[in-house]
Amino acid sequence: MSDYRPPVKDMQFVINELAGLADIAALPGYEEATPDLIEAVLEEAGALCAEVIAPTNVVGDEQGTRVEDGQVRVPAEFHAAYQQYVEGGWPSIVNNPDFGGQGLPKLVGAAVEEMLQTANLAWSLCPMLTQGAIHCIEAHGSDELKQIYLEKMISGAWTGTMNLTEPQAGSDLSVVRSQAVPDGGVYRVSGQKIFITWGDHDITENIVHLVLARTPDAPAGVKGLSLFLVPKYLVSGDGSVGEQNSVTTVSVEHKLGIHGSPTCVLDFQNAEGYLVGELGKGLACMFTMMNSARLGVGLEGVSISERAYQLALGWALDRVQGRAPGGKESVAIVEHPDVRRMLLTMKAETEAMRALAYVAAGHLDHATHASDAEARAFHQARVDLLIPLVKGWITENAQVLTSLGVQVHGGMGYVEETGAAQYMRDARILTIYEGTTGIQAGDLVGRKILRDGGAALTTMLDEMDATAAACKAAGDELTTVCESLTAAVSSAREALAWLLANAKADPANAGAVSYHFLMLLGLVAGGWQMARAALIATEKLAAGAADNDFYAAKILSARFYAEQSLARVSGHAGTISSGSATMMSITVDQLRGD
Ligand SMILES: Cc1cc2nc3c(=O)[nH]c(=O)nc-3n(C[C@H](O)[C@H](O)[C@H](O)COP(=O)(O)OP(=O)(O)OC[C@H]3O[C@@H](n4cnc5c(N)ncnc54)[C@H](O)[C@@H]3O)c2cc1C
Repeated sequence: MSDYRPPVKDMQFVINELAGLADIAALPGYEEATPDLIEAVLEEAGALCAEVIAPTNVVGDEQGTRVEDGQVRVPAEFHAAYQQYVEGGWPSIVNNPDFGGQGLPKLVGAAVEEMLQTANLAWSLCPMLTQGAIHCIEAHGSDELKQIYLEKMISGAWTGTMNLTEPQAGSDLSVVRSQAVPDGGVYRVSGQKIFITWGDHDITENIVHLVLARTPDAPAGVKGLSLFLVPKYLVSGDGSVGEQNSVTTVSVEHKLGIHGSPTCVLDFQNAEGYLVGELGKGLACMFTMMNSARLGVGLEGVSISERAYQLALGWALDRVQGRAPGGKESVAIVEHPDVRRMLLTMKAETEAMRALAYVAAGHLDHATHASDAEARAFHQARVDLLIPLVKGWITENAQVLTSLGVQVHGGMGYVEETGAAQYMRDARILTIYEGTTGIQAGDLVGRKILRDGGAALTTMLDEMDATAAACKAAGDELTTVCESLTAAVSSAREALAWLLANAKADPANAGAVSYHFLMLLGLVAGGWQMARAALIATEKLAAGAADNDFYAAKILSARFYAEQSLARVSGHAGTISSGSATMMSITVDQLRGD
């Protein structure tokens, strides 16, 4: 048993009230997603995560992973947890029923994913990468590949990996060098891939690698990239696992955090592989799963912040130090206003982040399942706009929130034994993999805003203003929420106007302001969700809802977010109007101090 308590109440509130489960359950294919079923799923997932997976977290951090005779070994406790996860049918909850999946909405999958990640982030990366690979094979694989691989992967019997990165090809995949040479009906794949998450392990009998490589006559750049499925062990016609393919684990990385996740250097030497999708469309195949993969990493930011908050709160309730304002007795540090500032920042911002991520998951369900093409297009445009915020803003914020978790612990946060330091170390990767914050910010400003002249963003800002107006009408308790959201949306409109007016004038302007744009919009979008939450909570209280403490706390969280978090928006807006001139004027010699 661990000290992790899944925040099921808040998850249910967000799923039902903010992301609109009822509307999603009305979509074709999702009829079984009734509130009762979802409640049962969350309760059971919560029990698995708290009782079985969370206790493996510290073990994984302390033991890490190792290579023995070319085979990666992970802690024994990880095996037992994985077995229970598979026996409970958890790997398949959102997958296609044609291949053994349970076909539940992505929104429900997001909540379960959050719990798995909060329980043990390093462990959860294995199922997460497998889901990405399943998604890709399902969308682009041949019928034969689907028949051989999908059922095994969906059941959890085999896991999957994504092999993109090479030493010279990180953010820039156009320079990938791995080769795939046609050989009869298959390909011989050669090259070195680095940083491959769960690239090897001893938990399942096979691992399915998806590898980005280029055929010998392929053009340079991204147009020459194709995707290949390369199993660790070749699979016979009857589906049984046969001889080992020529994929070798060179090493596992020693790294700052997520010690329980094997980050592998893999060497492919004429390994047998099979084309996924069309030749030259490898990157496009990867992009079909990008939104759900980036949503998954954004959820990791929610998860690690939730765990850090729970730990910090427990400490603040126990640790006695100093006197409360105006008091004479020694008190627990939770009574100090500055400790409250830290705890409430963690609580309110984690709630805002969860709401934004789940709302994005809900739009993803509409975008894939709505029967009306216009509705699908609207929701897809909203997903496209929200995903860089979910990945970029949430994971950047997780750095601050997990650091606050250390701060609440004082010196005991800096030493390892309380666990606060692990969350801060584990969180650090989130802004780097699946596209760094710089890449998310560039995507937001370039593809999602400038490309349509800010149209999709303006529609969303109009919806935010409507929420602010509803808060005004709801009465005095939401005055701060209304005023702060109105001011923040106005700053966002000014920043958008500046971007539209100045992006062409200087090609460096968009890149120079993109981070601040991302953080500004993330903060505003989080504030919007908190305002919506506060409105619903006000209505529930007025209607005499049973859970009045939860709703009263939600209103206080929203007010705190409005007072403290939305106040940061104007800082980002002011910076945006400075553009690129100063940062691009400094010379390399001046950077060096020569
Ligand atoms: C623990 C871990 C697990 C990983 N798992 C996987 C995996 O499973 N599969 C896989 O294929 N890869 C994986 N990666 C690789 C990861 O996706 C890359 O590290 C990441 O994409 C960044 O590439 P890079 O490290 O080469 O950094 P670089 O691309 O060299 O970036 C360095 C800095 O330059 C900035 N930068 C670069 N280009 C631009 C640009 N065009 N505009 C603005 N800023 C830019 C970046 O934002 C960053 O701050 C993993 C990495 C780690 C550390």
